[in-house]
Amino acid sequence: MGSLGNRPHAVVVPFPAQGHITPALKLAKLLHHRGFHITFVNTEFNHRRLLNSRGPSSMKGLPSFGFETIPDGLPYSEANATQDVPSLCYSTQRNCLPYFRELLLKLNNTASSSEIPPVSCLVTDGGMTFTLEAADEIGVPKLIFWTASACGLLGYLHFKPLIEKGIVPFKDASFLTNGCLDNLLDWIPGSKVMRLKDMPSFVRTTDPEDIMLNWYPIEAERKKQASAIVINTLDELEHNVLEALRTMLPPVYTIGPLQHHLDQVPDPQLKSIGSNLWKEDRGCFQWLNTKAPNSVLLVNFGSLTVMSSEHMVEFAWGLANSNQAFLWVIRPDLILGESAILPPGFVNATEGRGLMVSWVPQEEVLNHPAVGAFLTHSGWNSTLESVSAGVTMICWPFFAEQHTNCRYCCTEWGPIGMEINSDVKRDEVEGLVREMMEGEKGQEMRNKAMEWKKKAREATMAPSGSSYVNLETVINKVLLAPR
Ligand code: UDP
Repeated sequence: MGSLGNRPHAVVVPFPAQGHITPALKLAKLLHHRGFHITFVNTEFNHRRLLNSRGPSSMKGLPSFGFETIPDGLPYSEANATQDVPSLCYSTQRNCLPYFRELLLKLNNTASSSEIPPVSCLVTDGGMTFTLEAADEIGVPKLIFWTASACGLLGYLHFKPLIEKGIVPFKDASFLTNGCLDNLLDWIPGSKVMRLKDMPSFVRTTDPEDIMLNWYPIEAERKKQASAIVINTLDELEHNVLEALRTMLPPVYTIGPLQHHLDQVPDPQLKSIGSNLWKEDRGCFQWLNTKAPNSVLLVNFGSLTVMSSEHMVEFAWGLANSNQAFLWVIRPDLILGESAILPPGFVNATEGRGLMVSWVPQEEVLNHPAVGAFLTHSGWNSTLESVSAGVTMICWPFFAEQHTNCRYCCTEWGPIGMEINSDVKRDEVEGLVREMMEGEKGQEMRNKAMEWKKKAREATMAPSGSSYVNLETVINKVLLAPR
């Protein structure tokens, strides 16, 4: 691509949460490998957290891979590592455009006197669409990166129709329990299985002013202005949903699982740029190495899930009574309003077969031969990482489109998962864990999950694979399109 100053320059803007920063960084690394200069834009809050968890050297970037920050518009709080998602959505949508506009201006002004090339394209998160206006002002292509599932996107795009049909907001709280949540939304194109309860959780409100209910229709409408949309999924997994999405949006390309593309980029410097907001504990690998293949259940609820201490106790005794080996990731802020305390007697009862840690390199753990199944909150990254590793799931969705992911996982995709009741009880945990680890159903699901693992590799690694071809098209026809 010539000298550093002649490179195309992609400004990459993730939504400020772990499940968005990680895949955005993967895409940024792939583009860098393909000759792009990268400016990766974190919020000031998250940049500080990355510096704390990764150390300053890992955030310095490379000569043509730089980091910039914009404020998120929220008051700074040292106490809360995990920010409140609705506040963050509301604040970024309303406050961040001027800061971003200023940043683009600064980058283009420096471009004339440095090795940084002028900005030539925008790659922005599907929840940060305020950036599109600033990109239009400098006349560059705008690629939206939807980091969640296609079925989740289908759900979000139908917030407006649900409001127009008078279904949401609910008239009163009785609608949350009176059975209407089981209603099949078979009028949504591309989906035969979506019920009201599987829609992204933000529709289940009685408040017409609810931040999220009003936030999504604006983001959905703005997606129509993108040059194209890329999704970190594979065509084969979500084919019908994608067909429907393609009738509603600008060109939609599937490019996942991104990690498989990256596995083919042997660049240690790129590898050293990390995205974890928490410090990783790698000690678990030594423990996993002592375990038989497929014998360990990974238990991890992602970066945002919180639960009551009562639910934690139910999970703990369910795991203990299942008699299976497990690796349980307990984030320091997992328990609502207090620190996580395991019930007395639990550690003794599970000695030798249970390991508790606070944050792991999850994708690597899922690919360890000892891991046989995953008790997850069904966040999209976790789900896709599990599918890519051929690992079956026990799903306990918490919020957002996790319910949609859970529904597809437990029906359309095999099934390759079993759902746990939201008001979780120890007997159910014990039963499902045993069934998944030792039962016939679990084995059938494992076989199906292995088929998906193979398909995910083919999609990304074979030159005729859908995600492989799509990534080429997006780079050449969208990001490098002549202006
Ligand atoms: N993750 C990790 N270690 C942990 C917990 C989570 O590396 O101990 C990663 C996980 O692999 C995934 C991301 O954090 O890439 C979580 O994203 P996801 O969409 O699954 O859920 P969210 O955190 O957004 O609810």
